Amino acid sequence: MSQNTLIVSNWKMNFNFLQAQNLAEELNKINYDKKRIINVICPQFLLLPLLNNYLDKNNFVLGSQDFHHQLSGAYTGDTSINLIRDFNCKYSIIGHSERRKNHRETNDQIKKKLKLSFENSIKPILCVGESIDQRENGIYKEHIQKQLFECIGKQINNGLIVAYEPIWSIGTGLTPSTKDIIEITKLIYNFLKNEKIKDFKILYGGSVNSLNFKEIISLEKINGLLIGGASLKIDEMKKILSSC
Ligand code: PEP
Repeated sequence: MSQNTLIVSNWKMNFNFLQAQNLAEELNKINYDKKRIINVICPQFLLLPLLNNYLDKNNFVLGSQDFHHQLSGAYTGDTSINLIRDFNCKYSIIGHSERRKNHRETNDQIKKKLKLSFENSIKPILCVGESIDQRENGIYKEHIQKQLFECIGKQINNGLIVAYEPIWSIGTGLTPSTKDIIEITKLIYNFLKNEKIKDFKILYGGSVNSLNFKEIISLEKINGLLIGGASLKIDEMKKILSSC
């Protein structure tokens, strides 16, 4: 397992104020190796002030689930990178498959978000991954290469985090075989090396839970996990954080 393992919780559109407060307080009680593990919580935007103000910042760092690809302007309903930084976000998920699908986010917009994140000292967690059709038709590697190529371009030379998230695995309880995860993490690794990007990290996300995380996180090129459903449950997070 690598140094500085990233455990990223994607709370998605879950929790009201009280529920978020309760879970965050419980998370703050978990004992884990803080020298080695970076525990990132990505709540809904409106929960960022709560988590920023009321909780023990030594136990987790904040991330956002998205931000707009422009700095400001007439974008009703969107949130800017300046605002998430004001609330102490150090990380942001970018290009999650749910945003690509539900908000028709394009690789071009994601590329702009990556650029903004570097200009504004937010560490980007770029999500890539194939649909079930792409996997079954044997075009998954080309698809992921294309996502990497079109989202990253030549604009980044260090600190990028890429999460391999097969769409068919998200929220389904299905996970790829170890062999399949290794195949894609190698592809991502080689791409980032070829682009001469330094200090990058590769995460896996998709139906990670307390029963399967150890096998995944022990894989050579995996530096952490992106966790959706299981991150909403304190017992799951206790098991994952304390034995990572
Ligand atoms: C996600 O949506 O980023 C995710 C990993 O979800 P889950 O763990 O629920 O599959």
